[in-house]
Amino acid sequence: MTVADNSRQGRRNAILRELGLSPLWRTRIPKPESAGIPPGERDKTFVDTGAAVADLGGPGSPISSTDDMRDDRRSRILGMPWDELERSVEGCVACSLCKSRTRTVFGVGDRNADWLCVGEGPGAQEDATGEPFVGQAGKLLDNMLAAISLKRGLNVYIANVVKCRPPENRNPTLEEAYQCEPYLMRQIELMKPKLIVALGKVAAQNLLRTDASVGSLRGKLHWYCGIPVIVTYHPAYLLRTLPAKAKAWEDLCFAHRTMESPEP
Ligand code: URA
Repeated sequence: MTVADNSRQGRRNAILRELGLSPLWRTRIPKPESAGIPPGERDKTFVDTGAAVADLGGPGSPISSTDDMRDDRRSRILGMPWDELERSVEGCVACSLCKSRTRTVFGVGDRNADWLCVGEGPGAQEDATGEPFVGQAGKLLDNMLAAISLKRGLNVYIANVVKCRPPENRNPTLEEAYQCEPYLMRQIELMKPKLIVALGKVAAQNLLRTDASVGSLRGKLHWYCGIPVIVTYHPAYLLRTLPAKAKAWEDLCFAHRTMESPEP
């Protein structure tokens, strides 16, 4: 291990430790010194998340009781064990998607997996069955996983940015993604995957706090709270855009290499 390896590993461990000890959303104004992580290091991880909070009534905006309720809810979710988290998603009414959903789609697979695939949100078939990626795009995802010797449920977990189907399969709004965010954050925190594959624009942009396109994000290693993230095209996009499949294959090979040696 090199010094850089050690420091990245140390940062990852420190961040995961912090995630386990104190819910991220409890602190309204980040206090880098209390986290035991130098401010410069935090910039690479949590500060991104903090920036989004500012957009949505977080640090820097006037504190109201609505803000406090939101913070309370987030803090509670970020302390839940798996079963409670799943029940909480099932009963969630935090945004209007709850009115049109048939079923919530929590996520599926091995909760101790090294691999986490994150999609956008349920489509019609997922809404009907409660399982992510069961439609045509899901079949392609299963084939993509098989190409790197992975199988749904075995060392892979599959989840979405939002747990309820957006009507007409539109992208989730900022507010919907924000309300659902602590569920995915908690899933990641409980799982501690070794690698996250962001499937498509919505997953990549929400996880990485960016407006950048998938085209510009793929091929590079990104980080989410110390966990490597690789961005690739959404399987539904690949079904419509066959030439992109070769690029998705490159991304999967990159992911596989990264999993074998996560510290470049
Ligand atoms: N597309 C997604 O992003 N997620 C699903 O679960 C199904 C389709």
